[in-house]
Amino acid sequence: MLGFSLLCWPGMRSSLTFGLVPFGWIMASVCYCTLDPQPDKLHAMELHDLIRGLHEPADTKIVLFVADGLGGLPIEPNGKTELESARTPNLDALAREGACGLSIPVLPGITPGSGPGHLALFGYDPLRYRVGRGILEALGINFPVGPRDVAARGNFCSVDAAGLITDRRAGRPPTERCQAMCRLLQQVRVPDVEIFVEPVREHRFVAVFRGGSGHDLGDAVNDTDPQQTGHRPVAAKGADPNSEITARAVNAFVAEAARLLHDQAPTNMVTLRGFARYPKIDTMQEVYGLRAVAVAVYPMYRGLARLVGMEVADAGATLADQVETLRQLWHQYDFFFLHYKYTDSTGEDGNFAAKVEMIEHLDQELPKIRALDPDVLIVTGDHSTPSKLRSHSWHPVPTLLWSPTCRPDPVTEFGESYCLHGGLGQFRAKYLLPLAMAHARRLGKFGA
Ligand SMILES: [Zn+2]
Repeated sequence: MLGFSLLCWPGMRSSLTFGLVPFGWIMASVCYCTLDPQPDKLHAMELHDLIRGLHEPADTKIVLFVADGLGGLPIEPNGKTELESARTPNLDALAREGACGLSIPVLPGITPGSGPGHLALFGYDPLRYRVGRGILEALGINFPVGPRDVAARGNFCSVDAAGLITDRRAGRPPTERCQAMCRLLQQVRVPDVEIFVEPVREHRFVAVFRGGSGHDLGDAVNDTDPQQTGHRPVAAKGADPNSEITARAVNAFVAEAARLLHDQAPTNMVTLRGFARYPKIDTMQEVYGLRAVAVAVYPMYRGLARLVGMEVADAGATLADQVETLRQLWHQYDFFFLHYKYTDSTGEDGNFAAKVEMIEHLDQELPKIRALDPDVLIVTGDHSTPSKLRSHSWHPVPTLLWSPTCRPDPVTEFGESYCLHGGLGQFRAKYLLPLAMAHARRLGKFGA
């Protein structure tokens, strides 16, 4: 055991703590320490404290171009991935001149959602800054979530005369019906807490509970969805006094919803889950000293950007619109987050050829970005979405960082197997922004 502790030496506090817990945990800390020399929580705190102390003003521009779900897999063994199959002369030129590598969004083997994937790219440790499902759902419909809010994902469901759930998704009603049902629920009033109900699609909606003064709402509230049919929705309970206030409002809301929806079968009841408070996150301006703007089309990514204090531009609808927006905003900001969704959606559709085409489309827009003369241009993804798997995956993400201060590496094309030999190596995505800051000459020296 001593040997294990020595391995963990830079994080001595953690090895002492882990020394007191069962063996499996000790193993976990050992594996962990070989990847990253300090316990993650401490490390994240120190990263931000360090950056706060080091960042300097500079008249430089950083572009972070996120092709959602960029990483892929070959369909056949020894084949090419989507990115390697695509004809990408502009990406390849950037890869030749810049530095490449593979980024690990959360930890090896962990498949991230787009929320944690993006937080890491924005320089926030996704294990430390967790954004709950309710908040992500609310961000996803562009609901202006605030610091007094607890958000939840709602489902319309079907119940029988005895109140037992017969269909947890109410037969997936058309979105128009969801909208009509939400209009009914928008009438619900409960004491001391303001409630907002907004449709998402089919059986899904968002419920946001906003506390008044003296009614600070907690989010330690259980899901009311029993996860199976033949059961009643579960009553909400709060695990602490503030969450108890939320739970009372939730139960009052559900009771009133049941009354209003009584004759609306199959959408005659609701369940709520993923209660989450708006997370307190220091802004990119505070931590990194960057005036940052998001040029994203889809609401969830705009919401994620807003969470870390980015301003959110009116981006238009196409990638060409986004690049034009970038051009117009060029002199107003230091950091530009450009989000491109279609590499992920085609991957999730399992459509290899379409994902290749989307990557080629992205490539064609790059010269317009380079013409703006950025000091640092990054192209990466928030996670991999191989069309072979039709889902997000744990695979490290091909990443390129172009800057005049890049050290040469042997990469001549942008693709997963080339990136294995790149100068950035395999690294945690949360370090990408500090690296970009360095290349943008925005970080001072650490120590004398
Ligand atoms: Zn994503």
